[in-house]
Amino acid sequence: MSLAAPAPAPPVPPGRPVIVLNKVCKSFGAHQVLRDVDLTVDRGEVVVIIGPSGAGKSTLCRCINRIEVINSGSITIDGVPLPQEGRALARLRAQVGMVFQSFNLFSHRSVLDNVTLAPIKVRGIPRGKAEATARQLLDRVGIADKAHQLPAELSGGQQQRAAIARALAMEPKVMLFDEPTSALDPEMINEVLDVMRELAASGMTMVVVTHEMGFARTVANRVVFMDDGRIVETAPPAEFFANPRSERARDFLGKVL
Ligand code: ADP
Ligand code: MG
Repeated sequence: MSLAAPAPAPPVPPGRPVIVLNKVCKSFGAHQVLRDVDLTVDRGEVVVIIGPSGAGKSTLCRCINRIEVINSGSITIDGVPLPQEGRALARLRAQVGMVFQSFNLFSHRSVLDNVTLAPIKVRGIPRGKAEATARQLLDRVGIADKAHQLPAELSGGQQQRAAIARALAMEPKVMLFDEPTSALDPEMINEVLDVMRELAASGMTMVVVTHEMGFARTVANRVVFMDDGRIVETAPPAEFFANPRSERARDFLGKVL
């Protein structure tokens, strides 16, 4: 028996898939919400998911983060299949950062605590180190001066940037955004999109559900159009917006553009 530390994992080559969904199906009772969804997201890729309300976009994100359990098919994160139980699931889930429409910050904790809680509790990072990282992240999202305030003392845009910092503190391999700007007043949308643009430029792998077509056009590597639980089409944004292939995508774009 060897007591030597295990060899470090070899570096993951760029372009290797981070998320792979294979024939994913999800139902709530008799209502099928995801129908044979196949999706591969490569390292460093930004995939924007668009589609009408009820298409299954949020459910897809929640299945990738294992907040919802799929009925059939498979999901792998960086080569490791979901679902898993207990600690292995917690570790895997920690690799997938999620930002919701409704911020979901802990309301009675300071912004700094919001960013440090999971790294300290889930990853066992010492408080001093977690706080140093949190301050860097708050600076990166432009709210370094808000560290000791409560979420309610921040604007919606600042709260959402705090939520992004909180997700990044876990050093995720991929970030999921589910309509991160839909609850914001118009003047605050860009400050959040700018943080997301910066994140994309830094090489983060991202899946973004949004109605911000400007963001989709300029930041996405691929646009995925969903309707009625299916991926109807997927294409680079220039191609998708200039020439949507499906009737349903044309119809949808006619309403939102
Ligand atoms: P989208 O995000 O594209 O608007 P959702 O994934 O939220 O779509 O919802 C897809 C469908 O699944 C909708 O018909 C919705 O009512 C249904 N749904 C979502 N979550 C649940 C749930 N927890 N229980 C029952 N039905 C749900
Ligand atoms: Mg939704």
